[in-house]
Amino acid sequence: MLQIENKQTFGKVIADALSKVELTVTDAQTKRRWVRAIARAVAEIEENGNFMSWMAEDKSLLIWSQKTDGVYSSNGICQCRAFLQGVPCFHRAASRLVRIYLETEDAPVQAEEITYLKPTIEHKAERVGGIRIN
Ligand SMILES: [Zn+2]
Repeated sequence: MLQIENKQTFGKVIADALSKVELTVTDAQTKRRWVRAIARAVAEIEENGNFMSWMAEDKSLLIWSQKTDGVYSSNGICQCRAFLQGVPCFHRAASRLVRIYLETEDAPVQAEEITYLKPTIEHKAERVGGIRIN
């Protein structure tokens, strides 16, 4: 479960992400796609944070998609169709937003201190409730 407690910090992280896209992405279509991916990521984090877990060890965000019933682990690379097609996806946008938020936020409780969020040692492909996790 992922919950953004400091909305102010998160808002700043979002604004920074959008301005970074504006400043660094030259292709207009790619720029539009990243802006959309970031907007979707923000909405998903707010509405479906219950289905996300931050993996502190490899700094990745685990996202369970209710739509595709797939689990995506994103830290710059992703397993979704959009990523395979070289298109920005909200998983990567969300992962980046959460990473920067956690780095920025001086929260006393970090995800790595919450035991139930820790990945188990055998974190390789396994089935959990009919879902294959890679
Ligand atoms: Zn993705």
